[in-house]
Amino acid sequence: MVKVELKELKKTYEKSKVIAVDNLNLTINEGEFFTLLGPSGCGKTTTLRLIAGFEIPDEGKIFFGDEDVTYKKPYERGTAMVFQNYALWPHMTVFENVAYGLKVRKVSKEEINKRVTEVLELVKLKGMEKRYPNQLSGGQQQRVALARALVIKPRLLLLDEPLSNLDAKLRVEMREEIKRIQRELKITTIYVTHDQEEAMSISDRLAVMNAGKVLQVGTPEEVYFSPKNIFVASFFGKPNIIEAIYEGDDIASLDKGTKIKISKAEEGVTFAKGERIRILIRPEHIIPYERKEKISEFNIVKGKVVFKMFTGTMQELKVEIGENVFLYTLIPSDYKLEVGDTVGLQIPVERTLAFKAD
Ligand code: ADP
Ligand code: MG
Repeated sequence: MVKVELKELKKTYEKSKVIAVDNLNLTINEGEFFTLLGPSGCGKTTTLRLIAGFEIPDEGKIFFGDEDVTYKKPYERGTAMVFQNYALWPHMTVFENVAYGLKVRKVSKEEINKRVTEVLELVKLKGMEKRYPNQLSGGQQQRVALARALVIKPRLLLLDEPLSNLDAKLRVEMREEIKRIQRELKITTIYVTHDQEEAMSISDRLAVMNAGKVLQVGTPEEVYFSPKNIFVASFFGKPNIIEAIYEGDDIASLDKGTKIKISKAEEGVTFAKGERIRILIRPEHIIPYERKEKISEFNIVKGKVVFKMFTGTMQELKVEIGENVFLYTLIPSDYKLEVGDTVGLQIPVERTLAFKAD
C-alpha cells in the first residue's frame, strides 16, 4: 500500500488547448479510499491517467511514498486501473481475462491458478471461470474487471467511473462490494465519479473538482456540512441559496420584513453592513416548528406552503417565507401539510451558512 502525492500537477492537451489539470495538489494516504468528484470535463480522468502513467504532466511531480514516479512507465508503477466500460476481452473466458496480467508477467501456471481462484472468490465469481463476458450480467462483468485489476496485487487501485454503466440498484450493490473489497485488502484506492451520493457513501475523503482545480478536500461530512463555497455546496443535494443583505451582528434580511441569524461559511470572512450575501440552507435541515419552548439557536420563520410533492417517507414543500423568498423543505410525510397551509419552520443557525455574493 502506498501514499500518493500530487504536487502542482499541470496538464494541457495540445489539440484542444484545454487546461485539463491546473496546479493540482493532493495527498492520498496509505490505505485510503479517496474520491475525485466533479462535473464532466473537470479533469478527473486526466488526473487518474497522470497517476497511472498514461499521460505525462507538463509541470509538477507525482510521488508514491518517497519514490518520484512522474516519468515512470505505467507498468513500472504498480497501479491497476478499472475503466467505465470494463474493457474485457470478449474472446477470453473469465479465467483467461483475469489470468492475462499474470501471464504477461511470466508468473508460473501453478501460481496463476492459485491467484486467479483467490481473487475470483474475493469478488464472488467462483464457478464462473469458463464463461465468456457476453454470458455475464453487467454487474458480473464489473466484478471481472475488478478481479483483473486486483490479481496483479497493485499497490494502488484506480477506478474511473466504474459503476456508471450499471442500473441504479446494481450501482448501489456494487458500491458496497467495492468498499468491502477495498477494506479487506486495505489497498490505497482512487475513485472517480461525478455522482455526489456515490462519492459520499464510498469515500474516506474526497476532493471536489471543477475546471481542473481542486476546490475542497475533506471527509464526506466536512464537505457536506462545511462547504467552502457555493459551487461545492450546490454539488451536494439541492440546497436553498437565498440572496440577502447583511445587517451586521450576524443578522441578514431576506426581504423588508424577514430577518434571520447566519453563520459564516468560512472562518475569517467578514461582511460589511449592507453587503449582498448568499445564504445556503439545506432542505433536510429545516424542521417544522411545533411551538414548544423557544430555542434561541434556531431561526424561526413563518410561511405559506405554495407547492407540495409527496415522495414517500418525505414530502418536499416549497414555502413562501417572505416577499418572493422561498424555502424548499424536506419534511416527514406524517406532518399533515397542504398547499395554502401556514407553517412555522425552524432552521438551526449553524446550518444557515452565509457566503460572499460573487
Ligand atoms: P472528466 O474525466 O472529469 O470528465 P477529463 O479529464 O476527461 O474530464 O477532461 C478534462 C478536459 O480535457 C475536458 O475539457 C476534455 O475535453 C479535455 N480532454 C480530455 N482528453 C483529451 C484529449 N485526449 N485531447 C484533448 N482534450 C482532451
Ligand atoms: Mg472522465
